[in-house]
Amino acid sequence: MLIKCPYCGPRPSEEFTILGDASVRRPTSNDPATMDQWFDYVYLRDNPKGRYKEYWHHGGGCRSWIVVDRDTQTHEIFGTQAARDVTLAENKKGNS
Ligand SMILES: [Zn+2]
Repeated sequence: MLIKCPYCGPRPSEEFTILGDASVRRPTSNDPATMDQWFDYVYLRDNPKGRYKEYWHHGGGCRSWIVVDRDTQTHEIFGTQAARDVTLAENKKGNS
């Protein structure tokens, strides 16, 4: 499987390490009342079948984190983005 790194271009998947679900967000509070949110953030992950956005790390290349929009059943890749750009876009959307 080839993954198009936004910085390096198409590269074999063996150069990457997968982290998983790119929709998970770190809780913003350290209040003990948010322990359930922290438990979910640290331990709970879905394992969906179908189209899914995942974090991948290009450890064998530029060492950047990217978001891969991929079908977990067919391994078809619909697109990739730099994780940094995804986060900046979300923050901009949240602040407007
Ligand atoms: Zn790269």
